[in-house]
Amino acid sequence: MIEDTIAAIATAVGEGSIAVIRISGPEAISIADRVYHGKAKLDSQPTHTIHYGKVKDPGTGETVDEVLVSIMRAPRSFTMEDVVEVSCHGGIVPVRRTLDLLLEAGARLAEPGEFTKRAFLNGRIDLAQAEAVMDLIRSRSDRAFSVAMKQSEGSLSERIRSLRHDLVELMAHIEVNIDYPEHDVEEMTNSFIIDKTESAIAAIDGLLRTARQGKVLREGIVTAIVGRPNVGKSSLMNELAQEERAIVTDIPGTTRDVIEEYVTVNGIPLKLLDTAGIRETADVVERIGVERSKSAIADADLILMVVNRNEALSDDEKSLIEQLRGKAMLLLLNKSDLPSALDMEWLSEHVDKERMIEMSVKEHRGIDQLGEAIAKMFFSGAVETADPTYVSNSRHIHLLNQANHSLQEALRAAEEWMPIDMIQIDIRTAWEKLGEIIGDAVGESLLDQIFSQFCLGK
Ligand code: GDP
Ligand code: ZN
Repeated sequence: MIEDTIAAIATAVGEGSIAVIRISGPEAISIADRVYHGKAKLDSQPTHTIHYGKVKDPGTGETVDEVLVSIMRAPRSFTMEDVVEVSCHGGIVPVRRTLDLLLEAGARLAEPGEFTKRAFLNGRIDLAQAEAVMDLIRSRSDRAFSVAMKQSEGSLSERIRSLRHDLVELMAHIEVNIDYPEHDVEEMTNSFIIDKTESAIAAIDGLLRTARQGKVLREGIVTAIVGRPNVGKSSLMNELAQEERAIVTDIPGTTRDVIEEYVTVNGIPLKLLDTAGIRETADVVERIGVERSKSAIADADLILMVVNRNEALSDDEKSLIEQLRGKAMLLLLNKSDLPSALDMEWLSEHVDKERMIEMSVKEHRGIDQLGEAIAKMFFSGAVETADPTYVSNSRHIHLLNQANHSLQEALRAAEEWMPIDMIQIDIRTAWEKLGEIIGDAVGESLLDQIFSQFCLGK
């Protein structure tokens, strides 16, 4: 049973002008009343109401800030405890002072993730949902946000639960068979076990298949923008980032270093790397840039190669195009506002038609086609399907792999007609591993580990 009351600043410091302090626990309302001065005591107010008032230092009577206070009484709150949220308006100093006053009034400073941990311990959310909340806080793009949202609504948890349910049923069948081997009610045939195990493996495989996309969604598709100097790489990067970040100049070779930028194109997060031109050069600074470009190409999930449509391809460009064959690459024929000097015959022999996009960054043309091509390449429409369950958490992926491994063992044992109680052990292990994903039977230390990753105040 949780006895004490915790408090912390719930909004990221420096984000916006309003900061929220969250208080949770049995004393939340009475502690808030010790520093809050409004028309009436908060204690006399009904749940889910908001009140205007002032925070005053009880020692000096001095006004610290004007605030709006929301009350959510147990169990209808995120933690299922009494929760008070104090919205401060006066910037960081009054916020810290208000928090200090609340701590002096009897609250304890919350540990990172402790609010979410309480929500979990009080049965408000399961572990997969709790972790989704953490992803939600960290997510970088709208799309990643909605994936985290879906998971937080429990769609992964539901899948895991139904999988575990099937495994329990299977174990029950096996149990009957072990306990009453002479019973002929339902003969436990190996083919029955094999059937059930195979479908469980298929279900886990399905979840794991989304794992790569999950990674992509959280971290961004690593995208290298490459090409000879002056073709428009930095301009493209700026266009996508919609702010002047990379330096654009008329002098070839100006972009000496790799510049990183997170952008969202068609709802897909990209981690863009603008690289120096691919070119043999004596200039030391630029050579470092060229080296980095090469390693950026090796590490990239997607390569956007930019060429100047207004000039013939150089030998370097041709050999790079050949080098990039078979990779996830789009060839951007930039400066389409100028007359074309490209050898289209050579190009059509070396690059698939749907991998070439005519564009003019200068006139903002072709950007939409680029977004669509990227979306098409990576998801083949998968993101848009009616199956929004994504596994995007490395702990989940690890546990799913372990469960899968145990089921494979069970399957092999069944196929080799091993004793049935040995098969039982593997199925049980799989069931336990799946349980760890949603937080059934997790040790305290694991819990602490998971929740300590959360931001303070969540
Ligand atoms: P980088 O060296 O590949 O990064 O090229 P920059 O982005 O620095 O661009 C080099 C020059 O090409 C600049 O003067 C840009 O304004 C110009 N440029 C970029 N895109 C276009 C385009 O679509 N059309 C035309 N005409 N000029 C462009
Ligand atoms: Zn550049």
